[in-house]
Amino acid sequence: MVGAGDPCWKVQNPGVHPVMISALLPNYARIDLAFERGEGSWLWTTDGRRFLDFGSGIATASIGHAHPHLVQAIAEQAAKVMHTSNLYRIPQAERLAQRLVDASFADSVFFCNSGAEANEGMIKMMRRAMSDAGKAERFRIICFEGAFHGRTLATLAATGNHHYLEGFGPEVEGFDHVPFNNMNAVRDAIGGETCGIIVEPVQGEGGVRPADMQFLRDLRTVCDEFGIILGMDEVQSGMGRTGKLFAHEWAGITPDVMSSAKGIGGGFPLGAVFAKEKYAVALKPGTHGTTYGGNPLACAAGNAVLDVILAPGFLDDVVRKGAKMKAELERIARDFPTLFVEARGLGLLLGLKCHAAPGPIQAACAEQGLMAITAGENTLRLAPPLVVTEAEIDQAMDMLRKAATSVAAAQKAAAQ
Ligand SMILES: *Cc1c(COP(=O)(O)O)cnc(C)c1O
Repeated sequence: MVGAGDPCWKVQNPGVHPVMISALLPNYARIDLAFERGEGSWLWTTDGRRFLDFGSGIATASIGHAHPHLVQAIAEQAAKVMHTSNLYRIPQAERLAQRLVDASFADSVFFCNSGAEANEGMIKMMRRAMSDAGKAERFRIICFEGAFHGRTLATLAATGNHHYLEGFGPEVEGFDHVPFNNMNAVRDAIGGETCGIIVEPVQGEGGVRPADMQFLRDLRTVCDEFGIILGMDEVQSGMGRTGKLFAHEWAGITPDVMSSAKGIGGGFPLGAVFAKEKYAVALKPGTHGTTYGGNPLACAAGNAVLDVILAPGFLDDVVRKGAKMKAELERIARDFPTLFVEARGLGLLLGLKCHAAPGPIQAACAEQGLMAITAGENTLRLAPPLVVTEAEIDQAMDMLRKAATSVAAAQKAAAQ
C-alpha cells in the first residue's frame, strides 16, 4: 500500500535528458489513498470508500472535516480579504491573540504558518531575551531524546535525531540532548551557556510519551533556580488535544514561552509563539517576521476553531472521550500481548506501543476502514478529531480489535 502516489512518469525536455521523477516531489512514502471529501471524523476516497479518520491529518483537523462553522468562517473571510501583509494592522489576528492570551499563561502571541516556524520563533525569542539581558553567551538549549521539533535547520538540531540531520551540512550549534523524564540528567546538562529548556509535555512523534507531571514541575523549578527559560513545544499536545487547552496545565505549571501549531487552525496552516511579556519584548520590530503569518484568512480559521474548543464543556468532553478510549486500548493491549506492550497517551493523543514496527497493524486497520498513524518506539498513534463521538470511538475500537485479531492470526500461522 505504500507507493509513490500517482506519479506522472514522462520524459521532460525530450532529446536533452530523460527525467524519471514524479512531478510531485517524492519525498514522502505516501499510502496509496486519496480523499475527496470529509465530514466530522469521516473521510471518503475519490473511489467512494469511507474511512474513520483517527489520525486527523496528524492531530491537525482538530474539529473534524468540513466543520460548518470553520467552513463558513473561511469562506466569508476569503470573500472579503485574505491577505494584506504584516505591514498593516490585522483585526482578526488582534482578536485571536487577545483570546489566546485570555485563555493561557501568555501575555503576547506571534503568528506564523507551521510548527517548525513556531519553534524557530520561540528559539530566536529565547536566545534574544538572554542576549538583551546582557547574557549573550547563554544561547544553548536543552532538549530531550525522542523529541520532535520540526524539519528546518535549527529545529532539526533541536530534534537531534541523527537520521534526519545526515547530509545537511554542519548542524546548527547550541542544542544539548538529555534523556526524557530524567531530572538528574537535566541538572547535569545546565551550564554557563544554557539559555533554557524546550520540552514537549507529551512527545508525539517520539511515540506518544507523556512527560511525568512531576518532571514538568521540576523543570519549572530548575529554570527558576538557574534563571533560564522554560519553553514548551505544544505543537501537537496543545489546543485541546489532551483535554486541557494546553497539556502543561495538567502539571499545574506555566512555561515562559510556548509554540503551537497543528490543531490551532483546524487544518488551515497556522502556528503561534506564546510568551510572557518579559520574553515577548525580545522580538522587537526588525528582529523577526513572516510575510503571511497570521493573515486575515488564517486568523479567521483560528478564531472559528477557538469558538468550538472554548465552548463550555468541550474540553471536559475530550477528557471523558479520551479516558473511555484509553481504557479500551488498555483492554486491547491486554488481549493481544504478542502484538502490544501497552496503551499510552493523554486525552485524545493516544497510542499502542507495539512489539515490532506497527506497519502491519496500521495496514490491517485501514482494511477495516480505520485510519491510524504511527510514531516512534513502534507506536500505533491514534489522534481522532476532538469532535469524535463516543459511538465513533466504539466503532474504531471494534475495527482495531478486528485488525489485531487478523494480525495476531497471521503471526501465529507464520510461527507454525
Ligand atoms: C509536528 C510537530 C512539529 C513540526 O510542525 P510542522 O508544522 O510540521 O513544521 C514540531 N513540534 C511538534 C511537537 C510536532 O508534533
